[in-house]
Amino acid sequence: MRMILFGPPGSGKGTQAKLLAEKFHIPHISTGDLLREAVTKKSPLGMQAKGYLDAGMLVPDDVMIGLIREVVTAGTGKDGFIMDGFPRTIPQAEALDRLFDELHIRIDGVVSLRVDHDEVIRRLTDRKVCRSCGRIFNSGQLRRDDPSKCPACGGELYQRSDDTTETARKRLEIYVKETKPIKEYYRLSGRFTQIDGMRDINDVYREIVAIFQKGRAE
Ligand code: AMP
Repeated sequence: MRMILFGPPGSGKGTQAKLLAEKFHIPHISTGDLLREAVTKKSPLGMQAKGYLDAGMLVPDDVMIGLIREVVTAGTGKDGFIMDGFPRTIPQAEALDRLFDELHIRIDGVVSLRVDHDEVIRRLTDRKVCRSCGRIFNSGQLRRDDPSKCPACGGELYQRSDDTTETARKRLEIYVKETKPIKEYYRLSGRFTQIDGMRDINDVYREIVAIFQKGRAE
């Protein structure tokens, strides 16, 4: 499986990408996770990116394109991948196409998760992430006896610093302005499927797998 998951922040890309990566035994390439890791490590990339992440702004294209090129050319995902959070601008989408052409990689498609904007804000401000396994939960999924622990692995849960109402709104605004136009770019190339991301996690998951299998059968 070589697939790009697309959609606003909070649309479930990360959750679905983790499920798909587990099922197909392929890496989940999340630029957000890579950047947060770099910030934690205080690497040069992290120092450069921190201000953008905190403000909910996009990290500049040249930095992001360099990062994804490094990850992909190092062989991550050579036997398949699920990409989440990249591309986020038209220049990033164009650069990714050039990179895939260069490496003779053909993607199965781009799946876009559609979610109402009110729901995006509700989900972002409600979610917690596990420091150990990276899984994402909403408040309804937490352990009753200890809501601070990951229901899957027992690790410590935390709220992302950019999941406050104010930053979530900013990220959504940027999504509409900078990222949403990519839909048209992929639609024109015939590799694009939009699905309803408002449904249950398992229903969305099954539909993505079905899209992939249908593409393979054609
Ligand atoms: P995410 O975890 O995908 O929500 O990403 C968190 C933050 O990382 C975003 O709000 C941006 O600041 C930054 N980021 C992640 N991916 C990209 C990208 N492709 N282009 C620019 N900034 C990005």
